[in-house]
Amino acid sequence: VFDSLKDQPAVTRDGMTLDLSINAGFLVDLNELDATGAAGVGLYRTELAFMSRPDFRAADVQAAYYAAVLDRAGSKPVCFRTLDIGSDKQLPYWRMPAEENPAMGWRALRLTLDRPAILRHQLRALLNAAAGRPLLRVMFPMVAEVAEFRAARRILDLERQRAIEAGQALPERIEVGAMMEVPSLYWQLPTLLREIDFLSVGSNDLLQFLFACDRGSPTLGDRYDVLSPPALSFIRSLVEACRPAGVALSVCGEMASRPIEAMALAGLGVRRLSLSPAQIGPVKAMLRSLDAGALAAYLNRVTDSADHSLRRHLLAYAQDHGITLPTTTFRAR
Ligand code: PEP
Ligand code: MG
Repeated sequence: VFDSLKDQPAVTRDGMTLDLSINAGFLVDLNELDATGAAGVGLYRTELAFMSRPDFRAADVQAAYYAAVLDRAGSKPVCFRTLDIGSDKQLPYWRMPAEENPAMGWRALRLTLDRPAILRHQLRALLNAAAGRPLLRVMFPMVAEVAEFRAARRILDLERQRAIEAGQALPERIEVGAMMEVPSLYWQLPTLLREIDFLSVGSNDLLQFLFACDRGSPTLGDRYDVLSPPALSFIRSLVEACRPAGVALSVCGEMASRPIEAMALAGLGVRRLSLSPAQIGPVKAMLRSLDAGALAAYLNRVTDSADHSLRRHLLAYAQDHGITLPTTTFRAR
Protein backbone atom coordinates (compact mmCIF):
# COMPACT_ATOMS: atom_id res chain seq x y z
CA VAL A 1 0.00 0.00 0.00
CA PHE A 2 2.94 2.34 0.66
CA ASP A 3 4.60 1.37 -2.63
CA SER A 4 2.50 3.88 -4.47
CA LEU A 5 4.03 6.60 -2.27
CA LYS A 6 7.59 5.64 -3.13
CA ASP A 7 7.97 8.25 -5.82
CA GLN A 8 5.78 10.86 -4.14
CA PRO A 9 7.44 13.69 -2.22
CA ALA A 10 7.31 13.82 1.58
CA VAL A 11 5.34 17.03 1.61
CA THR A 12 2.71 18.09 4.11
CA ARG A 13 -0.73 19.37 3.09
CA ASP A 14 0.43 22.91 3.78
CA GLY A 15 3.48 22.52 1.58
CA MET A 16 6.31 21.78 4.00
CA THR A 17 8.75 19.39 2.37
CA LEU A 18 10.70 16.98 4.53
CA ASP A 19 13.77 15.01 3.71
CA LEU A 20 13.24 11.37 4.67
CA SER A 21 16.43 9.33 4.80
CA ILE A 22 17.19 5.88 6.07
CA ASN A 23 19.34 4.61 8.92
CA ALA A 24 21.78 1.97 7.71
CA GLY A 25 24.71 -0.04 8.96
CA PHE A 26 25.36 -2.75 6.37
CA LEU A 27 25.83 -2.68 2.62
CA VAL A 28 22.65 -4.66 2.14
CA ASP A 29 20.67 -1.86 3.82
CA LEU A 30 21.44 0.37 0.85
CA ASN A 31 19.03 -1.63 -1.28
CA GLU A 32 16.36 0.15 0.73
CA LEU A 33 17.28 3.49 -0.81
CA ASP A 34 15.59 2.61 -4.07
CA ALA A 35 13.01 0.35 -2.50
CA THR A 36 11.69 3.17 -0.30
CA GLY A 37 12.48 6.20 -2.44
CA ALA A 38 14.43 7.67 0.50
CA ALA A 39 16.48 10.83 0.00
CA GLY A 40 19.70 9.27 1.28
CA VAL A 41 21.27 7.73 4.36
CA GLY A 42 20.88 10.07 7.32
CA LEU A 43 22.79 7.82 9.71
CA TYR A 44 25.31 5.22 8.63
CA ARG A 45 26.34 3.37 11.79
CA THR A 46 29.93 2.57 10.85
CA GLU A 47 30.51 0.60 14.05
CA LEU A 48 28.27 -2.23 12.90
CA ALA A 49 30.84 -3.39 10.36
CA PHE A 50 33.50 -3.33 13.08
CA MET A 51 31.31 -5.34 15.44
CA SER A 52 30.73 -8.12 12.98
CA ARG A 53 34.40 -8.76 12.19
CA PRO A 54 37.13 -10.60 14.06
CA ASP A 55 39.54 -7.66 14.17
CA PHE A 56 40.04 -3.95 13.55
CA ARG A 57 39.99 -3.00 9.93
CA ALA A 58 42.98 -1.22 8.43
CA ALA A 59 42.41 2.17 6.80
CA ASP A 60 42.65 0.80 3.26
CA VAL A 61 40.14 -1.98 3.97
CA GLN A 62 37.80 0.56 5.51
CA ALA A 63 38.22 2.88 2.52
CA ALA A 64 37.20 0.14 0.11
CA TYR A 65 34.16 -0.58 2.25
CA TYR A 66 33.06 3.08 2.47
CA ALA A 67 33.60 3.45 -1.26
CA ALA A 68 31.28 0.49 -1.78
CA VAL A 69 28.69 2.22 0.40
CA LEU A 70 28.98 5.40 -1.66
CA ASP A 71 28.84 3.44 -4.91
CA ARG A 72 25.66 1.71 -3.85
CA ALA A 73 24.09 4.98 -2.70
CA GLY A 74 24.82 6.51 -6.12
CA SER A 75 23.73 10.14 -6.20
CA LYS A 76 22.05 9.99 -2.80
CA PRO A 77 24.02 11.45 0.14
CA VAL A 78 25.31 9.26 2.95
CA CYS A 79 26.02 10.61 6.42
CA PHE A 80 28.75 8.52 8.01
CA ARG A 81 28.84 8.51 11.77
CA THR A 82 32.30 7.85 13.15
CA LEU A 83 32.72 4.81 15.39
CA ASP A 84 30.16 4.72 18.16
CA ILE A 85 31.47 1.82 20.20
CA GLY A 86 31.30 1.16 23.92
CA SER A 87 28.24 0.80 26.11
CA ASP A 88 25.76 -1.45 24.30
CA LYS A 89 28.08 -1.76 21.27
CA GLN A 90 31.07 -3.91 22.11
CA LEU A 91 33.80 -5.10 19.80
CA PRO A 92 34.47 -8.81 20.31
CA TYR A 93 38.23 -8.27 20.00
CA TRP A 94 38.58 -5.30 22.32
CA ARG A 95 38.31 -5.78 26.02
CA MET A 96 36.78 -2.67 27.52
CA PRO A 97 37.38 -1.70 31.13
CA ALA A 98 34.52 -2.67 33.43
CA GLU A 99 32.37 0.33 34.25
CA GLU A 100 29.46 0.90 36.61
CA ASN A 101 27.56 2.96 34.02
CA PRO A 102 28.78 2.09 30.52
CA ALA A 103 26.12 4.27 28.86
CA MET A 104 27.76 7.23 30.55
CA GLY A 105 31.18 5.72 30.25
CA TRP A 106 34.05 5.37 27.83
CA ARG A 107 32.27 5.26 24.52
CA ALA A 108 31.79 6.87 21.15
CA LEU A 109 33.73 10.08 20.54
CA ARG A 110 35.29 10.01 24.01
CA LEU A 111 36.88 6.72 23.24
CA THR A 112 38.12 7.64 19.77
CA LEU A 113 39.53 10.96 21.01
CA ASP A 114 41.49 8.98 23.60
CA ARG A 115 42.65 6.57 20.90
CA PRO A 116 43.12 9.09 18.09
CA ALA A 117 44.79 6.63 15.75
CA ILE A 118 41.46 4.86 15.40
CA LEU A 119 39.66 8.07 14.48
CA ARG A 120 42.48 9.15 12.20
CA HIS A 121 42.37 5.92 10.28
CA GLN A 122 38.64 6.06 9.96
CA LEU A 123 38.64 9.66 8.73
CA ARG A 124 41.49 8.88 6.35
CA ALA A 125 39.46 6.00 4.98
CA LEU A 126 36.36 8.17 4.57
CA LEU A 127 38.31 10.92 2.77
CA ASN A 128 39.88 8.30 0.58
CA ALA A 129 36.56 6.68 -0.25
CA ALA A 130 34.97 10.02 -1.11
CA ALA A 131 37.95 11.34 -3.12
CA GLY A 132 36.71 13.03 -6.29
CA ARG A 133 33.07 12.57 -5.31
CA PRO A 134 30.69 15.49 -4.80
CA LEU A 135 30.16 15.11 -1.06
CA LEU A 136 31.51 13.58 2.12
CA ARG A 137 29.23 13.92 5.12
CA VAL A 138 30.66 12.96 8.51
CA MET A 139 29.22 13.25 11.99
CA PHE A 140 30.61 12.67 15.43
CA PRO A 141 28.57 10.82 18.08
CA MET A 142 28.09 11.75 21.74
CA VAL A 143 29.63 15.20 21.52
CA ALA A 144 29.31 16.71 25.00
CA GLU A 145 31.08 20.01 24.46
CA VAL A 146 32.47 22.19 21.69
CA ALA A 147 36.04 21.34 22.70
CA GLU A 148 35.40 17.70 21.83
CA PHE A 149 33.93 18.62 18.48
CA ARG A 150 36.95 20.80 17.76
CA ALA A 151 39.35 18.03 18.72
CA ALA A 152 37.61 15.65 16.31
CA ARG A 153 37.43 18.28 13.59
CA ARG A 154 41.15 18.93 14.01
CA ILE A 155 41.85 15.28 13.25
CA LEU A 156 39.71 15.53 10.13
CA ASP A 157 41.61 18.65 9.07
CA LEU A 158 44.93 16.90 9.65
CA GLU A 159 43.84 14.03 7.46
CA ARG A 160 42.57 16.41 4.82
CA GLN A 161 45.94 18.16 4.83
CA ARG A 162 47.68 14.83 4.64
CA ALA A 163 45.62 13.89 1.59
CA ILE A 164 46.45 17.20 -0.10
CA GLU A 165 50.16 16.73 0.55
CA ALA A 166 49.98 13.23 -0.86
CA GLY A 167 48.44 14.67 -4.03
CA GLN A 168 45.24 12.78 -3.41
CA ALA A 169 41.90 14.10 -4.68
CA LEU A 170 39.46 15.37 -2.07
CA PRO A 171 35.69 15.25 -2.03
CA GLU A 172 34.30 18.40 -3.68
CA ARG A 173 32.53 19.28 -0.47
CA ILE A 174 32.92 18.06 3.10
CA GLU A 175 30.06 18.57 5.54
CA VAL A 176 30.74 17.99 9.20
CA GLY A 177 28.12 17.58 11.87
CA ALA A 178 27.63 16.72 15.49
CA MET A 179 25.10 14.50 17.13
CA MET A 180 22.97 16.06 19.84
CA GLU A 181 22.84 13.27 22.39
CA VAL A 182 24.35 14.84 25.50
CA PRO A 183 22.32 17.75 26.89
CA SER A 184 25.37 19.77 28.02
CA LEU A 185 26.04 20.58 24.36
CA TYR A 186 22.85 22.60 24.22
CA TRP A 187 24.41 25.40 26.26
CA GLN A 188 27.21 25.78 23.76
CA LEU A 189 25.01 25.80 20.69
CA PRO A 190 25.71 29.42 19.71
CA THR A 191 29.40 28.55 19.35
CA LEU A 192 28.86 25.07 17.94
CA LEU A 193 26.43 26.24 15.26
CA ARG A 194 29.12 28.46 13.77
CA GLU A 195 31.33 25.43 13.29
CA ILE A 196 29.05 22.68 12.03
CA ASP A 197 27.13 22.09 8.83
CA PHE A 198 24.39 20.07 10.47
CA LEU A 199 23.16 18.83 13.82
CA SER A 200 21.56 15.43 14.20
CA VAL A 201 19.49 14.51 17.23
CA GLY A 202 20.16 11.00 18.50
CA SER A 203 16.91 10.84 20.38
CA ASN A 204 17.65 7.42 21.89
CA ASP A 205 20.65 8.68 23.81
CA LEU A 206 19.39 12.24 24.20
CA LEU A 207 16.24 11.11 25.96
CA GLN A 208 18.08 8.76 28.27
CA PHE A 209 20.34 11.60 29.38
CA LEU A 210 17.61 14.22 29.49
CA PHE A 211 15.54 12.07 31.84
CA ALA A 212 18.45 10.21 33.48
CA CYS A 213 16.71 7.05 32.35
CA ASP A 214 18.57 4.00 31.06
CA ARG A 215 17.34 3.37 27.50
CA GLY A 216 17.82 -0.36 27.89
CA SER A 217 16.05 -0.87 31.20
CA PRO A 218 12.82 -2.86 30.86
CA THR A 219 11.59 -1.53 34.20
CA LEU A 220 11.89 2.03 32.97
CA GLY A 221 10.61 1.34 29.47
CA ASP A 222 7.43 3.38 29.87
CA ARG A 223 8.62 5.74 32.58
CA TYR A 224 9.28 8.78 30.39
CA ASP A 225 7.87 9.64 27.02
CA VAL A 226 9.51 11.37 24.09
CA LEU A 227 6.12 12.97 23.57
CA SER A 228 6.43 14.79 26.89
CA PRO A 229 6.59 18.54 27.40
CA PRO A 230 10.30 18.60 28.37
CA ALA A 231 11.41 16.45 25.44
CA LEU A 232 9.35 18.33 22.86
CA SER A 233 10.36 21.70 24.29
CA PHE A 234 13.99 20.71 24.09
CA ILE A 235 13.65 19.76 20.44
CA ARG A 236 11.78 22.96 19.68
CA SER A 237 14.65 24.93 21.23
CA LEU A 238 17.01 23.13 18.87
CA VAL A 239 14.84 24.01 15.87
CA GLU A 240 14.76 27.65 16.98
CA ALA A 241 18.53 27.77 17.42
CA CYS A 242 19.41 26.00 14.17
CA ARG A 243 17.04 27.84 11.86
CA PRO A 244 18.56 31.36 12.12
CA ALA A 245 22.04 29.85 12.06
CA GLY A 246 21.27 28.14 8.74
CA VAL A 247 22.29 24.77 10.18
CA ALA A 248 20.26 21.76 9.08
CA LEU A 249 18.69 19.90 11.97
CA SER A 250 17.77 16.26 11.68
CA VAL A 251 16.48 13.58 14.00
CA CYS A 252 17.93 10.11 13.50
CA GLY A 253 16.91 8.28 16.69
CA GLU A 254 14.01 5.83 16.88
CA MET A 255 11.69 8.74 17.53
CA ALA A 256 11.79 9.63 13.83
CA SER A 257 10.71 6.10 12.90
CA ARG A 258 7.36 6.22 14.66
CA PRO A 259 4.64 8.05 12.75
CA ILE A 260 3.00 9.77 15.75
CA GLU A 261 6.38 10.97 16.97
CA ALA A 262 7.46 11.99 13.50
CA MET A 263 4.21 13.96 13.36
CA ALA A 264 5.22 15.87 16.48
CA LEU A 265 8.68 16.50 15.02
CA ALA A 266 7.17 17.90 11.83
CA GLY A 267 4.94 20.11 13.98
CA LEU A 268 8.00 21.40 15.79
CA GLY A 269 9.57 22.30 12.46
CA VAL A 270 12.11 19.49 12.01
CA ARG A 271 12.64 19.06 8.27
CA ARG A 272 15.02 16.11 8.13
CA LEU A 273 14.27 12.70 9.53
CA SER A 274 16.36 9.58 9.29
CA LEU A 275 14.49 6.40 10.04
CA SER A 276 14.20 2.66 9.65
CA PRO A 277 13.50 1.90 6.00
CA ALA A 278 10.30 0.05 6.86
CA GLN A 279 8.86 3.21 8.37
CA ILE A 280 9.46 5.53 5.42
CA GLY A 281 6.08 4.64 3.89
CA PRO A 282 4.00 5.08 7.07
CA VAL A 283 5.80 8.31 7.99
CA LYS A 284 5.36 9.69 4.48
CA ALA A 285 1.67 8.80 4.48
CA MET A 286 1.31 10.61 7.81
CA LEU A 287 3.11 13.70 6.52
CA ARG A 288 1.03 13.90 3.37
CA SER A 289 -2.12 14.03 5.46
CA LEU A 290 -0.77 16.62 7.93
CA ASP A 291 -1.18 20.37 8.13
CA ALA A 292 2.13 21.08 9.88
CA GLY A 293 1.34 24.74 10.50
CA ALA A 294 -1.89 23.92 12.33
CA LEU A 295 -0.10 21.29 14.41
CA ALA A 296 2.65 23.82 15.23
CA ALA A 297 0.03 26.20 16.63
CA TYR A 298 -1.49 23.36 18.64
CA LEU A 299 1.91 22.30 20.01
CA ASN A 300 2.63 25.87 21.07
CA ARG A 301 -0.43 25.72 23.25
CA VAL A 302 0.26 22.36 24.86
CA THR A 303 4.01 22.08 25.36
CA ASP A 304 3.84 24.26 28.49
CA SER A 305 1.53 21.80 30.20
CA ALA A 306 2.64 19.85 33.24
CA ASP A 307 1.28 16.59 31.86
CA HIS A 308 3.46 13.52 32.03
CA SER A 309 2.97 12.97 28.32
CA LEU A 310 1.22 14.62 25.38
CA ARG A 311 0.77 11.30 23.59
CA ARG A 312 -2.95 11.03 24.20
CA HIS A 313 -3.47 14.63 23.13
CA LEU A 314 -1.49 14.08 19.97
CA LEU A 315 -3.34 10.86 19.17
CA ALA A 316 -6.64 12.66 19.63
CA TYR A 317 -5.36 15.52 17.49
CA ALA A 318 -4.41 13.07 14.76
CA GLN A 319 -7.80 11.39 14.88
CA ASP A 320 -9.70 14.68 14.84
CA HIS A 321 -7.66 15.96 11.91
CA GLY A 322 -7.83 12.84 9.76
CA ILE A 323 -4.12 12.16 9.90
CA THR A 324 -3.05 8.85 8.43
CA LEU A 325 -1.48 6.70 11.13
CA PRO A 326 -1.03 2.94 11.36
CA THR A 327 -3.79 1.43 13.51
CA THR A 328 -1.16 0.04 15.94
CA THR A 329 -0.37 3.64 16.93
CA PHE A 330 -3.65 3.84 18.80
CA ARG A 331 -3.01 0.87 21.06
CA ALA A 332 -2.56 2.00 24.65
CA ARG A 333 1.04 2.39 25.78
C1 PEP B 1 20.61 7.67 19.14
O1 PEP B 1 21.18 7.62 20.23
O2 PEP B 1 19.44 8.10 18.98
C2 PEP B 1 21.30 7.19 17.94
C3 PEP B 1 20.82 7.38 16.73
O3 PEP B 1 22.44 6.47 18.16
P1 PEP B 1 22.41 4.93 18.57
O4 PEP B 1 23.16 4.23 17.50
O5 PEP B 1 23.14 5.03 19.86
O6 PEP B 1 20.98 4.52 18.69
MG1 MG C 1 23.33 7.24 20.23
